[in-house]
Amino acid sequence: MEKNVFQKIIDKEIPATIEYEDDRVIAIRDIAPSAPVHVLIIPKKYITSAHGITVDDADLIGHVYLVAQQLATTLGIDQSGYRVVTNVNADGGQTVFHLHFHLLGGEPLGRMNAARVASGKHGGRGILREAGLIVLFAIGLAAFYNAMSPKHLEWIKPTYTAVPVNDDAIDKLIATAPTPTPTPTPPAATTTTAATTPDRPQRTVDSPKTSTATPPPPAEQAGAARSLTLAQFKKLMGKPNVVLIDARLQEKYDQGHIGNAMNIYGSEVEQHIPELLAIPQDKIVIIYCDGGHCELSHRVADVFLRFGYPNVFVFLGGWAEWSAQK
Ligand code: 5GP
Repeated sequence: MEKNVFQKIIDKEIPATIEYEDDRVIAIRDIAPSAPVHVLIIPKKYITSAHGITVDDADLIGHVYLVAQQLATTLGIDQSGYRVVTNVNADGGQTVFHLHFHLLGGEPLGRMNAARVASGKHGGRGILREAGLIVLFAIGLAAFYNAMSPKHLEWIKPTYTAVPVNDDAIDKLIATAPTPTPTPTPPAATTTTAATTPDRPQRTVDSPKTSTATPPPPAEQAGAARSLTLAQFKKLMGKPNVVLIDARLQEKYDQGHIGNAMNIYGSEVEQHIPELLAIPQDKIVIIYCDGGHCELSHRVADVFLRFGYPNVFVFLGGWAEWSAQK
């Protein structure tokens, strides 16, 4: 009968890295280690597998475990932990049919059923399915929380550009602005948050159908609202045709805001679309937030731009610049 590979190693017919040897066992480094420490402890007596062990081998097997202990200490894995296993036959994963014990360690080895999970066999599939469901549930929960959260994150971050506008365009806009006529306020279109924030100015908007819309200038692209400097903003401020929107969180708005600005928090703008669309299209809509390239303002501006509002501006300096100059 041809010698198996371990027999050849025991007989020194093929080389191996020997970690330990005595008259009953040899311990060698595994040629294809499954862990930082992977030593094979091989009894010199030929036994096919653990299934071939008899009562006569009790002493030998006890010795194997003592050698394993000693090697674990020598190799520095006795405290962190290790595993001693032996595979039996095909389903047990045995490839060399000469009894041997794997001493594994040097890293967390995971649970014993890790291989089953990875292979997807039998219970593994069930565990995988369960794990998949848990992950899906977690993603769903996170998405739901994100959608409900006032500070929710975008799945795909939109890009916004602030396009500067020249002074002539502002002057022209002021010159062509229609003279305001008192518009009766239909009760249904009246929106106010005064009930929750009594100190806020009452916000009254008229229905688009009642507006006397001026012919719109060329429509702007969503994501690219025109931006105003402080001087331009001041020019427009106070004009009767201007609607001012503060896109910051309500707490900030409550601490201070510009003029009679209404508060539409940019991250929740979707919930306020009907309210925004109740603003006549001929209004000059100016949105601001804390200052800088404020995404909140752009989000609000985008709603107007998408619905074809011609005069939508973002005051880039926002509350920071406005309050600093006072
Ligand atoms: P089994 O799969 O039978 O439980 O384990 C056999 C182990 O022996 C495997 O981990 C394999 O990498 C190792 N092995 C196979 N051939 C050699 C060899 O020639 N030299 C050494 N050092 N290890 C080997």
